[in-house]
Amino acid sequence: MYALVRELYPICRSITGNGVRQTLEILRRHVPLSLTELPTGADVLDWTVPKEWNIKGGWIQRLNGERVLDFASSNLHVLNYSTPVPRRRISRVELDPHLHSLPEHPDWVPYRTSYYAERWGFCLSQRQREALTDAEYEICIDSTLEPGQLTYAESVIPGTSTDEIVLTAHICHPSLCNDNLSGISVATFLLQELQKQPQRYTLRVLFIPGTIGSIAWLSQNRQRAASIKHGLSLVCLGDDSPFTYKRTLHGSREVDRVLSYALEVSKLPWQVIDYFPYGYDERQFNSPGFALPVGSLMRGQHGKFPEYHTSADNLSFVSPLRLEESLELCLSAVGMLNDNRRFQNLSPYGEPQLGKRGVYRALGGTDIADTQLALFWVLALSDGQNDLLQIAQRSGLPFAVIRDAALILERQELLAAVGADGAPV
Ligand code: ZN
Repeated sequence: MYALVRELYPICRSITGNGVRQTLEILRRHVPLSLTELPTGADVLDWTVPKEWNIKGGWIQRLNGERVLDFASSNLHVLNYSTPVPRRRISRVELDPHLHSLPEHPDWVPYRTSYYAERWGFCLSQRQREALTDAEYEICIDSTLEPGQLTYAESVIPGTSTDEIVLTAHICHPSLCNDNLSGISVATFLLQELQKQPQRYTLRVLFIPGTIGSIAWLSQNRQRAASIKHGLSLVCLGDDSPFTYKRTLHGSREVDRVLSYALEVSKLPWQVIDYFPYGYDERQFNSPGFALPVGSLMRGQHGKFPEYHTSADNLSFVSPLRLEESLELCLSAVGMLNDNRRFQNLSPYGEPQLGKRGVYRALGGTDIADTQLALFWVLALSDGQNDLLQIAQRSGLPFAVIRDAALILERQELLAAVGADGAPV
């Protein structure tokens, strides 16, 4: 995962353009992807696909030709979506309102965008800005902002059910590692792991530019969106911060319960926070028209770590260990979503006699006592209301033990799976 982050790091991505296509081509070497392109001007829900942005370079130089700032050394140096500026002379005074720096972190370069207002600009460290003491400079931004396409991709692992789990990772940030190459990388390797064995839910991973990408996808998939039963936006998963799970707008959907539980049993530091209407693509899915249960899993929180949207969100800010922890957590959560079912006890008058059915002989293993107890808990609580996660929490037994007990009882025809409405499935 870290190697993939490193490979993607130098590419200048934005919400449209060749950086996005190049990124998806690299991801395609790891997982199957289908690409969608929507033309500039296309209506997507209440939005319009913007012009496509591409950039070859940009610089500020002294009149003697000495470069003092160059896109070639960092793609953060040019305002993302900057309009082109043909090579020209400019006074220092006239240049100043087009410069962006961070006085509180004088060595860091900020990441700034202007997608929906046509502007030009440069981003630089406060120290670089203070060193611009000449009266005049020469500048150039070799970018294009023209009719083109909005590009996004999706990767699907069909499940035994057409109901879906949707995961999103945004692909619109240039050289920034935690936000969000970490999410892209974790999502990619999660797909690789999950395609090794059959899944109950169909898993759909969207690699989309932030905001406009999820709006575009939802506009093209209004019918399909109704199949989304659980979802997560995967963001900022490579830094040292404890995990944060941001709940769905509803606040207590199954994905909210599963993520809280997966975090609890992970033994890693974590917190759960309530929904708020800014952040990442979960906002579009949770909007009242769609009202889809999509939470967000992150480590460092949107806008809250000092390195956020700066050059300090670099390759040393994320680590293989944290990416691995994040992948393990996602695997655990998706596994639990797949396995968490509701059952109806088919022999609810008194305890069914398990011995005569050979259930005890079927147990084996070292945790026989736990499994026996689990059988009784599952029988006691399978009233069509409690799901296996609720039974695990009430009993204090591990989810996997409860799940396995339910499988044994289902095979003995002592349980029948039911849906959330209590009807057989
Ligand atoms: Zn961001």
